[in-house]
Amino acid sequence: MINIRDLSLEELEEEILKIGEKKYRAKQIFAWLYRDINDFSEMTDLSKDLINKLKENFILKNLEIENFQKSVDGTIKYLFKLNDGHKIESVIMKYKYGNTACVSNQVGCKMGCNFCASAKIGFIRNLTPGEIVSQILEIQKHTGEKISNVVFMGIGEPLDNYENVIKAIRLINNPKALNIGARHISISTCGLIENIARLADENIQCNLCISLHSSKDEVRTGMMPINKKYNIGELIEACKKYIEKTNRRITFEYALVDGVNDSKDDALHLAKLLKGMLCHVNLIPINKIKDGVYEKSSTEKILAFRDLLNEKGIVATVRRELGSDIAAACGQLVRDNKNEE
Ligand code: SAH
Repeated sequence: MINIRDLSLEELEEEILKIGEKKYRAKQIFAWLYRDINDFSEMTDLSKDLINKLKENFILKNLEIENFQKSVDGTIKYLFKLNDGHKIESVIMKYKYGNTACVSNQVGCKMGCNFCASAKIGFIRNLTPGEIVSQILEIQKHTGEKISNVVFMGIGEPLDNYENVIKAIRLINNPKALNIGARHISISTCGLIENIARLADENIQCNLCISLHSSKDEVRTGMMPINKKYNIGELIEACKKYIEKTNRRITFEYALVDGVNDSKDDALHLAKLLKGMLCHVNLIPINKIKDGVYEKSSTEKILAFRDLLNEKGIVATVRRELGSDIAAACGQLVRDNKNEE
């Protein structure tokens, strides 16, 4: 059976014709998919006959809340169970300017970054577009609050699940679906350069964030195996082309690890690498994971690193740490809750 929330409006129109209904019905049904409903029978302006046809041909639900934990700072982490029993995590963070959902796009991850808990669990499968947007829908339903920003910074590498992530972004963005502006959507990648080039051609005004973490190849390779495939020079080249094509600012994420990538020399080296680029550096105090070897840099070192970048003309800010008491912070999301044993 087709998962109805995986479909774009155009695809739904085709499917509706196939079950012998008029095309315009698709618009009506599509709008319902993004409201607070659990069952086709709640689509109150449709006939019983059509509702029965929908039940026979489509699946509505993609996932359900298995568990949730609330942080002292208001962040909530959800453990969702998918229809095949696999589990993923998502997070809602509350900021002054609105609520941000951090969504997963794969069950597990292939990339193997040695500081990230999601990598430790290996890769199971890609999430479908419907499974991605349903995380946002379920969070809105559970909190009773609207999500205004979406970040693809949960489990998985979004550019390794390219088609489904792009389709999900179009649904998130669609005024008739979730209606969240593309400028309020961010994709974070470890740097799959072919798909950075593809993204530049999509004509979606979303934000691109690059997990850089070091400007030195030997250090980055030690943290992120992907750097063996695409080194920093190639990655920066791809970013420059992206900026040229889209005229959009890139965010470089840099998790500071004590004694690994946080020296004065590291900051100067990074400033040199990014000089003249339309970009911004987001410094993240690294979060400790189970069996992880890395320690967080001291606050003084983090601020000194930021100040040095700013002095050199590179805009840099420190990311606020939210949800670390419930293992909901960057790099702490897993496929199930077993990391909290
Ligand atoms: N696969 C994507 C998105 C998921 S990770 C990516 O690599 O970007 C989201 C962000 O959290 C990335 O910038 C990632 O590098 C960072 N991150 C991962 N583990 C972390 C940790 N232990 N501490 C701080 N940031 C971490």
